[in-house]
Amino acid sequence: AHANGWIQKSKRGGGASSGSSVGGSSKLRELQAQRRRLPIAQGREALIEQIRNNDVTVLLGETGSGKTTQVPQYILESGIAGPGIIAVTQPRRVAATSLAARVAAEQGTTLGGLVGYSVRFDEVAGPDTRIKYMTDGMLVRELLSDPLLTRYSAIIVDEAHERTLRTDLLITKLKTILKKRNGDGPLKNKDKGKATAMSGNPVKVIIMSATLDAEKFSKFYDDCKILYVKGRQHPVKIYHTAEGQPDYVDATLRTLFQIHVDQPPGDVLIFLPGQEDIESLHKSIQLYASRLPLDKMAVLTCPMFAALPPAQQAKIFQTTPPNTRKCILATNIAETSITIPGIKYVIDTGKHKEKRHLAHDTGSGFDALLTRDITKSSAMQRAGRAGREGKGFCFRLYTEEAFEAMAVSSEPEIRRTSLTSAALQLKCLGEDIEDLDFLDRPDLESIISALKTLYFLNAVDKSNRITDAGRSMAAFPLEPNLACAVLEAVKNGCALEVIDIVSVLSSTSKLFFDISDEREVAAEVRRKFRHRSGDHMTILNALRSYQDVAATESKAARKEWCRKQYLNERTLLEAVKIRDQLRATCEKMSIGWQSSAQDDERPVTKSLFRGLVLHSALLQPDGTTFKQVYGRSVIKIHPGSAIADQKVPAIIYDELVYTNHIYARGVSAIPKAFLAEISTHIKSQIA
Ligand code: ADP
Ligand code: MG
Repeated sequence: AHANGWIQKSKRGGGASSGSSVGGSSKLRELQAQRRRLPIAQGREALIEQIRNNDVTVLLGETGSGKTTQVPQYILESGIAGPGIIAVTQPRRVAATSLAARVAAEQGTTLGGLVGYSVRFDEVAGPDTRIKYMTDGMLVRELLSDPLLTRYSAIIVDEAHERTLRTDLLITKLKTILKKRNGDGPLKNKDKGKATAMSGNPVKVIIMSATLDAEKFSKFYDDCKILYVKGRQHPVKIYHTAEGQPDYVDATLRTLFQIHVDQPPGDVLIFLPGQEDIESLHKSIQLYASRLPLDKMAVLTCPMFAALPPAQQAKIFQTTPPNTRKCILATNIAETSITIPGIKYVIDTGKHKEKRHLAHDTGSGFDALLTRDITKSSAMQRAGRAGREGKGFCFRLYTEEAFEAMAVSSEPEIRRTSLTSAALQLKCLGEDIEDLDFLDRPDLESIISALKTLYFLNAVDKSNRITDAGRSMAAFPLEPNLACAVLEAVKNGCALEVIDIVSVLSSTSKLFFDISDEREVAAEVRRKFRHRSGDHMTILNALRSYQDVAATESKAARKEWCRKQYLNERTLLEAVKIRDQLRATCEKMSIGWQSSAQDDERPVTKSLFRGLVLHSALLQPDGTTFKQVYGRSVIKIHPGSAIADQKVPAIIYDELVYTNHIYARGVSAIPKAFLAEISTHIKSQIA
């Protein structure tokens, strides 16, 4: 070992001891010192021993103790896993990208070398990559091409307590992968020694969690051992409001400025449900802050949510400038995935967004993103963020009774979201979702709904076997319904257009800003993109106009153009990247993507309709509301839609949003004839 205690076994990629530093060696030395100060560093040797001697380890540790950043480096540096890649899965893409950047810096290398990441539509990794942060969805996707995940010699399933659908799927699949790669019989856990020397390419599995329910993971893997890491937690004083705060954005604003005016220095972390609230609060804070007297401390706001580009994410980790209070506006990404230094105050709105599958008794249903109350476990994690470096304060914008009434922890995603995509991926592996051994079994109702959807998309046949079309759908990094639309477009000679539209729909944020105080102006400006058939062709028009501008104008002019059109440039940039990937996917499968319907929108809506068939609705006799064709809900066209003021016989839509009504968003008109055709098709399959 060196004087600094590190052993560098990896020869590739220039590790910490090789001196190929990216920002000067003094910075690297400081990063190494920081690593050694983390709570987990004291347990380093014990942890390495445990992983060396066992196939599976469950590691439980308080947030910020160093699990996510250190464990993969320990495995690499000690050489206890094979020569393959060390995968670290994350439920959220922001976490994967930002943690990879941090660990690359700690290793003194550039991102994409020894340390990389892989998230949907974006990968920064190369032949030298040994530690790869990836979303759980990306690793599930890799199962399709490499069912035993043989490229990986260690798989770390991080944030397992979040119990996302993809994480649960991995936990299930890893059980069989372990048996196949490490030998039959019970998992080698307790017997020390050559536990994994049975086959050529064994794998180490580490399940990491931030909450106390680790028993369940351990039981699932034949009672494997649980290791604990203690964090450093200082006391946090918690305040509740006397009354509920329906307008939590406004309540947050007031609380923040009270803290700012009355309380000593220290950064503030605010938990909000989603991007829209974050962006609106961000603006209000900036407005108020600009009116503060000059002798007051300045306020620096940093938003943090999934769709934020990496360069801006990095801002939250930068040292707060002197005489300034940093204020981070985050979704639950900052709850356990990412630890931001310097936080002394937490404001907790008590809300988050949750994906829910609203199943109908008819068997068809849909996913909705709903703002809901958080759980006790989340509330406690959020408060804990204030006490990392010293005594902290947490202001809850809800009453103590409301806290007491919260659920203890959230229901696993497998029990509340659509299983369509998961069922299709499993079908490709020759497995049926209903037969698998899960931590928690999915509801029969949602399994039926998923299989029904796959059948409607012609991804499975009437005997529930996967079709060739189904296999092709699974090959696209898209939800099965959008993949179905793309395949249909190839048949209908309009792949160019549909791939463009699907790329925008798959972006993390919306294309059209919904700015309530300037809604009228925005609508007027956008009129030129409007297409009489609806929002899908409107999206295409906007994307095309942007590309015309992009072809000739400078970056700054492009940005300005987007601002004037009230278009989100981030979405457009992302969509262009997604489009390139979708075209590449087509090429890999020898599918031509160049066919174009030119100015005829009919084949385009027809192809989209094929994928969105379960999202179709018929005009009711009242002339304003629509009834779902394959469901029971009565819906209205969202007022922001391009065809909100038109009378059309039937529609397809991207999603439903709930307010006082059920509104369909992303709507296009379709002729009733489409519906007749599809039902003949379905009848012919059943017959
Ligand atoms: P855990 O997984 O146990 O919650 P992490 O490994 O994520 O802990 O974090 C360990 C430490 O690394 C934290 O103190 C955190 O502040 C720091 N850290 C993580 N990412 C960054 C970053 N991008 N910049 C600066 N510090 C970071
Ligand atoms: Mg972590």
